[in-house]
Amino acid sequence: MPKYYLTTPIYYVNDVPHLGHAYTSIAADVLARYHKLNGDDVFLLTGTDEHGAKIAEAAKEAKKSPQEFVDQLVPKFENLCKVLNVQYSQFFRTTNPKHEKIVQEFIDKLNKAGYIEKRKYQGLYCVGCEKFLTPDDLVDGRCPDHKTEPVMQSEENYFFLLSKIAEEKDLYNLIKSDKFKVSPVARKNEVLGKIKAGLEDVSISRESVEWGVKFPGDESQTVYVWVDALINYLSATKIYKDGPIWPADLHLIGKDILWFHAVIWPAMLLAVGEKLPKEVFAHGFFTIDGHKMSKTVGNVLDPIELVEKYGADAVRYAILREFPFGEDGDISEEKIALRYEKELANGIGNLLNRTLVMINKYGAKVSDKEIDRLGTSVGEKVQRLDFHGALETIRLIVETGNEIIEEKKPWELAKGNKTKELNELLNEVYWILNSITKNIASFMPDTSEKMKKQLKTLKPEPLFPRIEK
Ligand SMILES: [Zn+2]
Repeated sequence: MPKYYLTTPIYYVNDVPHLGHAYTSIAADVLARYHKLNGDDVFLLTGTDEHGAKIAEAAKEAKKSPQEFVDQLVPKFENLCKVLNVQYSQFFRTTNPKHEKIVQEFIDKLNKAGYIEKRKYQGLYCVGCEKFLTPDDLVDGRCPDHKTEPVMQSEENYFFLLSKIAEEKDLYNLIKSDKFKVSPVARKNEVLGKIKAGLEDVSISRESVEWGVKFPGDESQTVYVWVDALINYLSATKIYKDGPIWPADLHLIGKDILWFHAVIWPAMLLAVGEKLPKEVFAHGFFTIDGHKMSKTVGNVLDPIELVEKYGADAVRYAILREFPFGEDGDISEEKIALRYEKELANGIGNLLNRTLVMINKYGAKVSDKEIDRLGTSVGEKVQRLDFHGALETIRLIVETGNEIIEEKKPWELAKGNKTKELNELLNEVYWILNSITKNIASFMPDTSEKMKKQLKTLKPEPLFPRIEK
């Protein structure tokens, strides 16, 4: 069985999970299910990033120790996966002592290989970002993401010699030639442009941050939370899998963390002689009702409330259907409700219902002839992470099914006693429904199961019940 190892980012647990977390997890689960259905040995890794100054601060505010604080939030992230029907293989936590040990070993290796140097660093540090910002990053003297003024900090830090390793191993050409694939192409070009502009070495330890993995050989420092987090992808394979499943086939990430995954992470791996992941794919961001999701604007969509109202399958469908995965887009509850009504209830649900009703009413004989009209095209799109396109293809075939019925009017064929034509027509629509059942399986697993059952027993039951407004 070919293995397929894919990862979501590990989510930073300084607050409760939101729709952004749900987005990446749903996409990862669709891919994982698709590969499982195609016979691959899938390992889907997700989890939580639990160290760093931001968490220590949030814990302090909540009058808890950092460990207590993360212990209380992590179940909410696990629960979100459960509610969304995301079947991960392993939920990973960076506070796992085995992981902490592997992080220290990794840094030891970097050091022995000659890629770590102690230097004095002075710069503008944003606590929210957990990183030093350059004057170019600032807008009116403030961090553009956190709207706070960074503080001048000076530290003796350990630096990872990113520029040295990237040049030695020609990281630029590894990316350019797709030996290490960065997707979509716009993101690849963005990364290549930045590498060409010159690489700066990265400070990978913190003197001022206590809540983290102790830096090996210097207990006065902790490992920079980003370095600790990236190593999770590798340490999970050592902790939870016996077989050699590294390298990862795919790291699924949001575009805001592209630099860490497309440049720093492969450089770290090259420096210790590990294989590179095959691909990093950065998805876009969405606004909600045209605005950046924020508590102040009051437009935060709670994925759990959405699932309670529309069901996990409909939320999975709507969020991947709305705009292409690699691009930015907009989502709102109104849009989800519209997809639910038009494409699910009145689309797939209606086609299934009316077809089963007619098969029963006219006593048609239907058979499970194996044809798959959309399989190849939908599958190719899923493999390219074009979920939006795959769902559009499925929607079109649902529409075709409904059009065939409208055009050929089985009720008139029945009136005219045209039994053969009637039987052929209902068989055609029945096969279309079988194909839809198969092709929505990774997107809407429960709906697919329900359809399979109904197509077998020919007992119609509403798939997407009407929602009270
Ligand atoms: Zn910031």
